[in-house]
Amino acid sequence: MKKFHTIIQKQLLRWYDANKRDMPWRQTNDAYKIWLSEIILQQTRVEQGLPYYNKFVNKYKNVKAFANANESEILKLWQGLGYYSRARNMHAAAHQVVEWHNGIFPANYDELLKLKGVGEYTASAIASIAYGLPHAVCDGNVFRVLSRLNANDTPINSTEGKKVFFHLAQSLLNHQFPSQHNQAMMELGALVCKPTNPLCGQCPINTFCVAHQKNTIDKFPVKSKKQKSTVIYLHYFVFEYKGHTYMQTRKGKGIWQGLHDFPHVEYTGKEISPEQSIQRIQHTLAIGKMDVIKISQEYKHILTHRIIIAKFIQCTLHKPIDTKKYSLIKIKKAEINKLSLPRLIEKYYIKELQ
Ligand code: SF4
Repeated sequence: MKKFHTIIQKQLLRWYDANKRDMPWRQTNDAYKIWLSEIILQQTRVEQGLPYYNKFVNKYKNVKAFANANESEILKLWQGLGYYSRARNMHAAAHQVVEWHNGIFPANYDELLKLKGVGEYTASAIASIAYGLPHAVCDGNVFRVLSRLNANDTPINSTEGKKVFFHLAQSLLNHQFPSQHNQAMMELGALVCKPTNPLCGQCPINTFCVAHQKNTIDKFPVKSKKQKSTVIYLHYFVFEYKGHTYMQTRKGKGIWQGLHDFPHVEYTGKEISPEQSIQRIQHTLAIGKMDVIKISQEYKHILTHRIIIAKFIQCTLHKPIDTKKYSLIKIKKAEINKLSLPRLIEKYYIKELQ
């Protein structure tokens, strides 16, 4: 086995040297930049993540600058990537690095794990890529490669699967070159061992791949059935009074905490009519008379275990709303996009208000 591993490691590195995509985070071993790139790449594909990475690196040259930024500024730069809790966690982690480690990411896996939003994957990536420590990374690409390479049918999205594949990744790790090895595994999954139609003919490790040899690639990786999603219905109210509208800052611990959206009525599991929502919002915000101008089409937003279905109801008011009493922000419609917005509101704004 050990002998096979050594050959696989060598072939992987040779392939990676010749085929890797040229990305700015591959030209550095600055832990701050590795951390930024890894968190962004958990959210999106490399091509879409690149402009975000560049925006962050250009605006905040180091982790101290990142920690000193306003959270709203960070959320604004993050806009479009979704899961804003990641951006908020990054801000908290930057503070921890400054306060606990004098502005230098620790060269220690366990210490990295203590940082907010840094899980096993990110800690391994920073430890191996920035500091050359022998920790294997296991992202979705690596899970897929390992599942096929070993024809292992443990579901990759199960707790058991995470253990099994982490163990396989760690035992295959090249301890001499952990950074290149980890990046090679991820790159192989992204470019060759793709989810559909993998390019096995070009794969540097195809002679060792059990699924390829047995012609059973389409059986791997195995995923256990998904948990059913909860459907949330939102009726957003886009009020208009003398050229202004009203927005609110999301409070609490939800995924949109700190972002801005319109006043709304929300239902879980069952939709009610816009008329019922109108009555409710009129009562809640003491609006009195208003004219409904337009009810939008449905806007859908899919999260891991939730589907949000929103409609936007445009209304003209006859008197202003008491912003202080209801914690609202009065803003010109044209300026909404200056605020940090959930993707759903941004989509609506681009389509119907710009
Ligand atoms: S041979 Fe095919 S299935 Fe096996 S690791 Fe390579 S690309 Fe993936």
